[in-house]
Amino acid sequence: MPELPEVETTRRGLAAHLTGLTITDVVIRNAKLRWPIPKNLPRLLRGRTIASLKRRAKYLLMDCGSGTLILHLGMSGSLRILPANTAPQQHDHFDLILRNGTLMRLRDPRRFGAVLWHTGDPATHPLLATLGPEPLEDGPPANNFDARYLYQATRGRSVSIKQCIMDNHVVVGVGNIYANEALFRAGIKPQLAAGKLSLPRCAKLVVEIRATLAEAINLGGSSLRDFVNTSGQPGYFQQHYWVYGRSGEPCRRCGSPIKQIRQGQRSSFYCGSCQK
Ligand code: ZN
Repeated sequence: MPELPEVETTRRGLAAHLTGLTITDVVIRNAKLRWPIPKNLPRLLRGRTIASLKRRAKYLLMDCGSGTLILHLGMSGSLRILPANTAPQQHDHFDLILRNGTLMRLRDPRRFGAVLWHTGDPATHPLLATLGPEPLEDGPPANNFDARYLYQATRGRSVSIKQCIMDNHVVVGVGNIYANEALFRAGIKPQLAAGKLSLPRCAKLVVEIRATLAEAINLGGSSLRDFVNTSGQPGYFQQHYWVYGRSGEPCRRCGSPIKQIRQGQRSSFYCGSCQK
């Protein structure tokens, strides 16, 4: 599944190819994604110029002047820039044809992705309106992901700290890999009740979440085998994980075997010695 680093890598790669270009046509081959692609998109988008490509959580927001095209990669989606005459393959469900002779193509074998249209401020779209702060960008004081924010957000909560940081209402974009890795680096066991985390430990966790995500973005994204970046190279970089996927292997810090448990239907990996 593309996690936040892959989506941000995609955004950076695509923005350079799309910003300022005019859309000449839209091709919908299969509208049945997680939600149907709006049938009137060709009429809405023909002749529109792409002003910018931004990101909120794992949604890509393409400002087309009269509204915003909201794109989500779901479980298996990828976006590429290709010559406009490139024949579509199976699972290539959606194209934006651009005036410079290229197109932006969405491939999504599992069809959990989304292509939606929204007029007005994209932050008001129902999918985006209740999201927590971005982990990597400084937000307004009341909604900035820092130690005090995380401390306040976890008070009185008996849910595990891992499930808490994976909750999009608390902070967006911390998927399973990065939650596991950040908790190891912060020395916090994943099953600790969120409400028991002290302010200094909240500060440490915020630092490690930010660092873990930033490092993955610098590597070009890490988790999706079939992610293909805009230059056609595989974007899959096998990271040197501390704990993720390393059940039974020795901890890289202390040598104890890495443990694996289930939390909220997801696998958690941790070191019983390094994480308290
Ligand atoms: Zn250890």
